[in-house]
Amino acid sequence: MVRFTLAKEIRDRILSGAVSAVDVTQAVLDDIHARDENLGAFLETFDIEALAAAKAIDDMRERGEELPLLAGVPVAIKDNMLCEGHIASAGAKILGEHRSAYTATAVQKLRDAGAIVIGRTNMDDAAMGSSTETSAWQKTYNPWNTEKIPGGSSGGSAVAVSAGFVPLALGSDTGGSIRQPAAMCGVVGVKPSYGRVSRYGLIALSSSLDQIGVFAHTVDDARLVLSVIEGRDDNDATSVDLLEPPTPYNLPPTTFANLRIGIPKEYFIDGIDPDVRARVEEAIDVMKKNGATIVDVSLPLTPYALPTYYIIQPAEASSNLGRYDGIRYGTRGDGGLNESYFDARGKGFGAEVKRRILLGTFILSAGYYDAYYKKALAVRTAIRKEFDDVFEQVDVIVSPTSPCVAWNMGEKFNDPIAMYLADIFTVSANIAGIAGVSVPCGFAHDLPVGLQFLAGAMHDEKALAAAAAYQAVTDWHTVTPST
Ligand code: GLN
Repeated sequence: MVRFTLAKEIRDRILSGAVSAVDVTQAVLDDIHARDENLGAFLETFDIEALAAAKAIDDMRERGEELPLLAGVPVAIKDNMLCEGHIASAGAKILGEHRSAYTATAVQKLRDAGAIVIGRTNMDDAAMGSSTETSAWQKTYNPWNTEKIPGGSSGGSAVAVSAGFVPLALGSDTGGSIRQPAAMCGVVGVKPSYGRVSRYGLIALSSSLDQIGVFAHTVDDARLVLSVIEGRDDNDATSVDLLEPPTPYNLPPTTFANLRIGIPKEYFIDGIDPDVRARVEEAIDVMKKNGATIVDVSLPLTPYALPTYYIIQPAEASSNLGRYDGIRYGTRGDGGLNESYFDARGKGFGAEVKRRILLGTFILSAGYYDAYYKKALAVRTAIRKEFDDVFEQVDVIVSPTSPCVAWNMGEKFNDPIAMYLADIFTVSANIAGIAGVSVPCGFAHDLPVGLQFLAGAMHDEKALAAAAAYQAVTDWHTVTPST
């Protein structure tokens, strides 16, 4: 059985002097070097820098200085977050040699809070994918069964936490890339409301959908990180001030009393694995028995969410990826100007990325713009309104995170539609800009199942509180893989 230690415990032990930050960091690095070869979570560990940062924490403690909130806590970051001087490739070949000129706000805030950035984790090529198989670099395996995918695109970060390497990891979620791999690897995944965490220094996939968030074993641990990274940042004009003060990291135990939970019938459709559905229904029963009020709600536009996402997402991606021409960034192409563009992009982008660029360029071209893109934006507004209306009636919405458990490596790799369908329950939150949390709620076919809590835009605390209340009365998150 994999053993894991919560971030809170590590922090408290360092604060009390029971362990040194250097010992914790060295143990984490040794564990990764010994076990990650078979899991492929990390693309690189930042050993020297991590140990130096840990030493600085120990020195502060020795001098009697007050230690910051995440003092000595190891954190992994997804390969699409900039960290000055380090490679950040976003899982893409074209950025394989690209060294960051500055550090992402979320990463800097972690460092300022004393966290030890351990290394960068594997991900799908340019964050496009649901299985981490499109990474240009390596495969990442699900610790629960290494014949299975870990989910994606933040598969490396999900595995880093699930396998017990680190208590916390950052990921990004454009259509489910935190919540879906969290569900498939049996850990907590939080996608904050759009704008809650600065995207400065996050390699853009789709700027109106992207959001940085957290993997952890418990909602409380995730809160610890969120309270550090969230909030307005002058370097990201779309980041917003919080409605409430920064998320407290140790709220009193939450309960289900007075909590109204909406169950949207459109999320319990044919096509969900019946065992996944059964686990989610059992979880709803648990919440009901513990005092929650269960309300049937309807989100009739749900069937349009996936097509809307797969129009807006490629459209924005095709525009964002235009900067990777092999001249300003990344691998150089050969030949004259035009030839070198073709060459760099031909060699540097994988098949899925090329598919999205072609789709997005088509969608945005004259004649098709109105038919597809404009229509998708109109549907997006309607989807947002629909969620706003439902959140007038309930505090949170509960659904499965994914319609299925982790599938076999390679199973959907050559079937993009099947891969896209796996995002059916996660994309709406990005389209509407609302908060989403996935927590483990049991097993189907011996693999973890995720339960999704959604809350209105900038009401993240409601989803976090409900998810924490669920974890307080269940112990699925304490079960670990044997790898
Ligand atoms: N699987 C979705 C996609 O391929 C979501 C990706 C993401 O959230 N980064 O677009």
